[in-house]
Amino acid sequence: MKITFPHMGNTYITIKAILEELDIDVVCPPKCSKKTMELGTKYSPEFVCMPFKLNIGNYIEGIEKGADTIFMLTGCGPCRFGIFSSLQKEIMLDLGYKIDFITSDRFSNIEGLKEFYNLLNKASGKKGVFKILNTLKKGLKLLDEVDELNDLMNKVRPREIKKGEVDHLAIEFENEIITVQGFKASFALIDEYNQKLKSIEIDKDKDVIKIGIVGEIYTLIENYLNLNVEKKLGNMGVESHRSTTTSKFVRDTLDFIPLIRSDKKQVYKAASPYLATPVGGHGIHTIGNTLLYKEQGYDGIIHILPFTCMPEIVARSILPTIEREKDIPILTLVIDEMTGEGGYETRIEAFVDLLNKRREVKDYGKAISWN
Ligand code: SF4
Repeated sequence: MKITFPHMGNTYITIKAILEELDIDVVCPPKCSKKTMELGTKYSPEFVCMPFKLNIGNYIEGIEKGADTIFMLTGCGPCRFGIFSSLQKEIMLDLGYKIDFITSDRFSNIEGLKEFYNLLNKASGKKGVFKILNTLKKGLKLLDEVDELNDLMNKVRPREIKKGEVDHLAIEFENEIITVQGFKASFALIDEYNQKLKSIEIDKDKDVIKIGIVGEIYTLIENYLNLNVEKKLGNMGVESHRSTTTSKFVRDTLDFIPLIRSDKKQVYKAASPYLATPVGGHGIHTIGNTLLYKEQGYDGIIHILPFTCMPEIVARSILPTIEREKDIPILTLVIDEMTGEGGYETRIEAFVDLLNKRREVKDYGKAISWN
């Protein structure tokens, strides 16, 4: 059995390491690319959301590299994620691929977790409960560390003295992490790049604009899909922060376990004056995190969603009220396979100009750069 899985931004690092630790043959799909998008778009329903299409592209590319089994988590919430695995399975079988699908419906309760454990235990040749729990615990730590490394890049990039150093390290890291195996080597490499990032010369006193990024999780974590929004912002001298990550998603889902740290309650509480109940996906997180970023003094918010994303359309309808009542500028970017990078970048540049102008008005009483 050779397992492949959806790439999902940097999440592939953890999934790959977990499967390797459990001695399961793993085929990491290539990084998402134009080819992934074209394959996914060709074989998916036209109006389904982009994450679905990229998944299909990932599967086909994983199979081309030798995989015979697809591992996919799925859900049962009020958005399309609930039908991802069953519909994707039908599509792959229709295309003539003779593959097995391993899916886990839910792991947000004890029954779901047991089912997930049974799947991993069977695939790993009965490694047993201790080994599997220990591997998952380390996997969660690895997820956290990968996200923390990304956060550090977003802090250093707008302040670096020599432009391009962070981008260069990010590419080097990507090229190396795919070659290492298991947790020990992955943690060591992350540690090495942490040190390298910390040794970059920066302008510590630079007063940078801060933007919080909210929206649909897959679009936030997959740089190919969000057209490298964090890198673009960093190179414009803006510090950005990604509100939703895979580690936060896992922590939120497992928050019924007492030892798991999650900020879900805080996010839901922040959202409650505007949205009292979850609407699927990360719709409620978009609202809650927008309000939390405002409280933390961020200058603006970028809201990113794939075209036709149901939960984020609900959130989108609420954001103009928050923008007006809380006096925080919000830019919404809707992404599909036709999105052009030039127009996307121009909108981000115009938004950053607006935030700079607001900052000047606040600091000097007038917009000095435009006068
Ligand atoms: S949250 Fe939106 S983009 Fe993600 S699976 Fe659901 S409908 Fe699709």
